[in-house]
Amino acid sequence: MAVCLAHCGCQRDEKGNLVFMHSSPDVPDSAVYFCTKCDYKYNPQFGDPVGQIQSRTPFKKLSSDWKCPICGASKSDFTISR
Ligand SMILES: [Zn+2]
Repeated sequence: MAVCLAHCGCQRDEKGNLVFMHSSPDVPDSAVYFCTKCDYKYNPQFGDPVGQIQSRTPFKKLSSDWKCPICGASKSDFTISR
């Protein structure tokens, strides 16, 4: 079970799974997220050249099958950097 490490108000869906707040309106598009497995930081300013993500792509706009370019962790293993 994935756990939200950012305490950002994650909600649960009807099956009780955590739903991450990637679409939360209070998360700015410029928010930097980091991988909890390897500390890779996703900075929307630069995108992810490895994953062919263009610069200025907000983390919440990444496809759900996007993976950490360093360790292959899934989006749910990322948490917002404050
Ligand atoms: Zn990683």
